[in-house]
Amino acid sequence: MRLNKTITKPRGTNDILPGETEQWQYIEEIIRTVCRVYGYREIRTPVFEHTELFQRGVGETTDIVGKEMYTFKDRGDRSITLRPEGTAAVVRAYLEHKIYAAPQPVKLYYIGPMFRYERSETGRYRQFHQFGVEVLGVHSPSIDAEVIAMAIAVYQRLGLKELALHINSLGCPQCRVELRRKLQDFLRPHLKEFCPECQGRFERNPLRMIDCKNKECNNLVIEAPSILDYLCAECQVFFAGVKSGLDLLGISYIIDKNLVRGLDYYTHTAFEIMAKGIGAQSSIGGGGRYNGLVETCGGPPIPGIGYALGLERVLLAIKAQKVPLPPAGCLDLFVVTASTDAEQVAFEILAQARSQGYAADKDYTGRSLKAQMKYAGKLNARYTVIIGENELNNNTLAVKNMLTGEQVAIDREKLTEFIGGK
Ligand code: AMP
Repeated sequence: MRLNKTITKPRGTNDILPGETEQWQYIEEIIRTVCRVYGYREIRTPVFEHTELFQRGVGETTDIVGKEMYTFKDRGDRSITLRPEGTAAVVRAYLEHKIYAAPQPVKLYYIGPMFRYERSETGRYRQFHQFGVEVLGVHSPSIDAEVIAMAIAVYQRLGLKELALHINSLGCPQCRVELRRKLQDFLRPHLKEFCPECQGRFERNPLRMIDCKNKECNNLVIEAPSILDYLCAECQVFFAGVKSGLDLLGISYIIDKNLVRGLDYYTHTAFEIMAKGIGAQSSIGGGGRYNGLVETCGGPPIPGIGYALGLERVLLAIKAQKVPLPPAGCLDLFVVTASTDAEQVAFEILAQARSQGYAADKDYTGRSLKAQMKYAGKLNARYTVIIGENELNNNTLAVKNMLTGEQVAIDREKLTEFIGGK
């Protein structure tokens, strides 16, 4: 007999199964709580956008736009792209809905799937999930420090330890003119030794050669001139403000001159957070200031800063660091019936318990009494409620505590009172 070949999920995607979804919900709940206490409000933008948004809002020279986007023509012949990141769409919505006319700054957050056609490996997927925040309409080092502090607060509340915060300043377009010249002078003699992509970056955006993913390229830039040596007076003051903000908040950091988020509209603060124990893909979040982005997207010159963290990587770090996660959801009670006569009472009990918020269930497959008890155990039920002939006749229930094995008879109306807190 020839079986049909089963269809599997596309490479680089994950099914998040029951047992795992509870962990995701737990993480998302912590994220939402931190957002609320820091004054962020949720924004939900479409999963796909016009391709042009990312070409402009992420940048043509980036890996994302150059080779990682899921782009296709829709049936109306429009070029559509599955979002590879969250910031561009938030900025689009900010402009489209004139949110800039509201009192500024505006603090927004999002959680959702992103899509990048990357080489998949542990911690790097083609569909992955990001939580991100954007603060639009304020240019102040103290908000940069606060955004970083908030990212750290999320990790801390999740119980993560051994994190390393790397920060850098990318200056402003003015200080980058001088840096660009110095950098090109430094890189030119070694140009042939760089990867083909870096060779392409040399003219377009040499700053990006500093943070190439290729190890050989990294070795060639160890001694490269640093933007920190070319910051103009204003940018120096701003960066000092961010650092003293972090000092005030008691957050330690490593100054990493090779950390660049090399798009033209990225300015000033850049940061990345690494976690130990999750392998090569150790970045669990990163962000930076993008004072040029709103204008690039067709709006007024409005400053902004944001960051995003990868939920899959956070979960990997939680597991690697053996941080306890709440147990998978369990049933409060499972109703076991000895005969079909008990069905109606079973449904009444379920309806009452559920209306009071208890997680309650029964068997629907005609299992024997013994098999129902076993099944209740598999479902992790706290209590089983047994309705046999005696119980039917006396209006009582036999309630078994599945943890202790203790069984008592109680009046039917006393059930939820007996089993107590949810
Ligand atoms: P980025 O938007 O590239 O700055 O990424 C921000 C964060 O998203 C990273 O620190 C990772 O935690 C996560 N991330 C980025 N790309 C992927 C991916 N392909 N798979 C899983 N997580 C990712």
